[in-house]
Amino acid sequence: MTHRLFSTSMLPLIAPLLFVAGIALAEDLLLDRPYVTFDAAKQDAMTPEMAIDKLKAGNRRFVKGSMHNRDLSAQAQRTAAAGQYPFAVVLSCLDSRSAPEIIFDQGVGDLFVARVAGNVISDDMLGSFEFATKVAGSKVIVVMGHSACGAVMGACDGVELGHLTGLLAKITPAVEATPVAADAPRNASNAAFVEAVTEANTKLQVAEILRQSPILKALIDEGQIKVVPAMHNLSTGEVEFL
Ligand SMILES: [Zn+2]
Repeated sequence: MTHRLFSTSMLPLIAPLLFVAGIALAEDLLLDRPYVTFDAAKQDAMTPEMAIDKLKAGNRRFVKGSMHNRDLSAQAQRTAAAGQYPFAVVLSCLDSRSAPEIIFDQGVGDLFVARVAGNVISDDMLGSFEFATKVAGSKVIVVMGHSACGAVMGACDGVELGHLTGLLAKITPAVEATPVAADAPRNASNAAFVEAVTEANTKLQVAEILRQSPILKALIDEGQIKVVPAMHNLSTGEVEFL
């Protein structure tokens, strides 16, 4: 007795499955191949818009819980041997729940990540960004705040503590620039105010990058990179590009 797994008579039944698999494969090839690391040619071929789309696609996977199953050890070995060609830079908060490689579902060698409480810039950050883009070829810099940010809350409440005082002072311009509804408190007890200050802070940090770095400003004007603010929702996992 012979068994045939599929016969031509079953084609109408499996055709929709093959179609869906084809779409999934096409999207995978277009936006990400988890088992292949970036190389110079792929990085060169990428535009700032494509880099943002790739981050958005990764964040959608994270939100859905369908992250790529990467061989990180193989990626580490490959990037160690062949060099790194990250396509994006992310400046995010120190917050343990707002880790860029995880929430954008990226592998080894895909992102340059800079982290500091309140995602504020500094001369050292600017130097790092100039290296990451002008020298190392990344196409986008994302300044990413997040919901319920403790650093922003501290700035809203005028917290003073050691070196933290000077760091929070960098968020103060966003606090001062953010209006509140009549009779609503201008402090961390007002969740809507904290959220608005956080969003304003990401935009102000982007503006400061452009103002303080002629190198990055020139790359933007030439269309080689984009610098964009974004907000990460800790509850949903979603990142909104502002
Ligand atoms: Zn934070």
